[in-house]
Amino acid sequence: MREFLTSYRKDRRMNKEQLADLANELKTQDNLYTADPIFIILETKKIFGMDPEYTDDFEWFDEDDPDFYFESADGRSDDEMIEAGFIKTYYIEHDDFVCAHFTRKAADHYRENNSHRHRNPLKIYVDSMYRCREMIEIREHLMKGECEPDYYCMFCEKPIKEKEEGYVRNNLGFCSEECADEYDARG
Ligand SMILES: [Zn+2]
Repeated sequence: MREFLTSYRKDRRMNKEQLADLANELKTQDNLYTADPIFIILETKKIFGMDPEYTDDFEWFDEDDPDFYFESADGRSDDEMIEAGFIKTYYIEHDDFVCAHFTRKAADHYRENNSHRHRNPLKIYVDSMYRCREMIEIREHLMKGECEPDYYCMFCEKPIKEKEEGYVRNNLGFCSEECADEYDARG
């Protein structure tokens, strides 16, 4: 087993403790009455230049410096704002998908640690993975908190989970020296 197992942990797989923690979180978290929930991070963006017929939301932009704007006119009339060089620009809000998480905890963690990377506010939205077969099955699999064995015996096909359980001969993995003998005997 050794030559295969040396690559273990160089990839991004979870170790047993991390997987057990995730399984526990999935089983105990508040799923907000949602079957097979997924926690989605959304970034709320404002899309400007809308027709005022379709929205009541607007901001005042400085004609000469579009980065400078007011959300309200502070009691000044529209005419006064236009006089002062501002343009009334209507917008709608649109939520862009950012990323998705199996647990609320991971979604919270993302929002806390990555908000500064986004220009606009982030929010967490819970949705169901209804009919997303792969995602539901992966979630079920995670809740079991078990890894599939990494290796199987070349002879009897018994799973070999731990490095110590394995026996290596001619770069082939076996569950025991006996199985290696049997394998060799068969040619
Ligand atoms: Zn075996």
